[in-house]
Amino acid sequence: AARPEPATQTRKPVQSENQSFEKLTGYRELRLQRSAADLIGLNNPFFRVHESRAAATTRIEGKTFANYSSYDYLGLNGHPAVSGAARKAIETYGTSASASRLVAGERPVHLKLEQALASHYETEACVVMVSGHATNVTTIGAILEPADVIFHDALIHNSVVTGAQLSGAQRRSFAHNDPAALEKLLEATRHEHRRALIVIEGLYSMDGDAPDLAAFVELKRRYDCWLMVDDAHGLGVLGRTGAGLHEHCGVDAADIDIWMGTLSKTLSSCGGYVCGPAVLVEYLKCTAGGFLYSVGMSPPLAAAAEAALSALHAEPERVERLRRNGNLFLAGAKKRGLNTGTSLGLAVIPVIVGDSLKAVTLSDRLFKRGINVQPIIHPAVPERSSRLRFFMTSEHTPEQIAETVAAVADELAALETGATLIEQLMA
Ligand code: PMP
Repeated sequence: AARPEPATQTRKPVQSENQSFEKLTGYRELRLQRSAADLIGLNNPFFRVHESRAAATTRIEGKTFANYSSYDYLGLNGHPAVSGAARKAIETYGTSASASRLVAGERPVHLKLEQALASHYETEACVVMVSGHATNVTTIGAILEPADVIFHDALIHNSVVTGAQLSGAQRRSFAHNDPAALEKLLEATRHEHRRALIVIEGLYSMDGDAPDLAAFVELKRRYDCWLMVDDAHGLGVLGRTGAGLHEHCGVDAADIDIWMGTLSKTLSSCGGYVCGPAVLVEYLKCTAGGFLYSVGMSPPLAAAAEAALSALHAEPERVERLRRNGNLFLAGAKKRGLNTGTSLGLAVIPVIVGDSLKAVTLSDRLFKRGINVQPIIHPAVPERSSRLRFFMTSEHTPEQIAETVAAVADELAALETGATLIEQLMA
């Protein structure tokens, strides 16, 4: 299936040179990158049109690919119970909540999902919002003020940084997964601010590693801070039953002030959640702009997420399969001398190759061999640590994994011998 043709009759608004969208910061660089890639014949690895659902295997332009670009960690996207719940919700409620829940009212599927998530993290309450990104932005924006401070991991997701900027609070980042570095910052600066929030992630999406949660709990107690965990990639992945970061670290979930996560990954839906004390949830529901002034979650998406959470609890063998697949990939990659950084070998495994051009070229060559994996390049990561990022799922087969690891190692070796990369590409 091709992209839909653009409308035949298109018109542009009249703009001065100064107001031209082409003058937007970063647009010129984007065009230059694209032109360079076109010149050396590299396909654009982004925004590919997939003809099937996001899963371990996909179809692109009529061809089947092993797919490492979906967050469908437990293969629940398309699970009969999940799709069935969404269908049933459409029949009852239609496709839209039609307005903010404050105005349009609650649908039982919202409340059921929130109860299930609160019970998962053993918190008093939960609120779900229409996007994971918006959940972080609006939650952090609503609970911090300029007199406050946010301490976050250096690799924290963009949505946390944007939320901090919205709040006007002082923002301080500490070295990745380094509680000692946070402690130094706390010791030096905590007293300068009124309230403090520490934000870390469950499983980091660029490196596939996890923090020492107990150490952060200890610091948040000692320096009187809130601790928020963005468990977007941890739910369904970390811990024996996939409960999340607390299970992985053997820490009581109740030691964390705010559990945040997304519905778009393991739960194969769309949206974000905040689980925590009832007062916090009540406050967010009545003051956070991204909830209050935005439509309620689409009922079929709420129903799908709730069914997926039930499937996660009912079918823990999926978590075990994901772990086996991740471990298999990691062990194979290490055996072939690939640089997988600090990955735990679960849902996210990077293969770090160095510069951006090498990462894009490797991705292109793998695509030609039936493997869809995206390069992560500067500025998303530092220039010398560009990488291919493999998202594993419980549904990849051992054969797919073995073939992929071999193809990555072979193609990388071919890129690293003989002529320079530019000479090879221009040949
Ligand atoms: N937090 C983290 C750690 C993420 O990786 C993401 C997105 N990948 C988000 C929040 C935003 O979630 P969503 O894509 O569901 O909006």
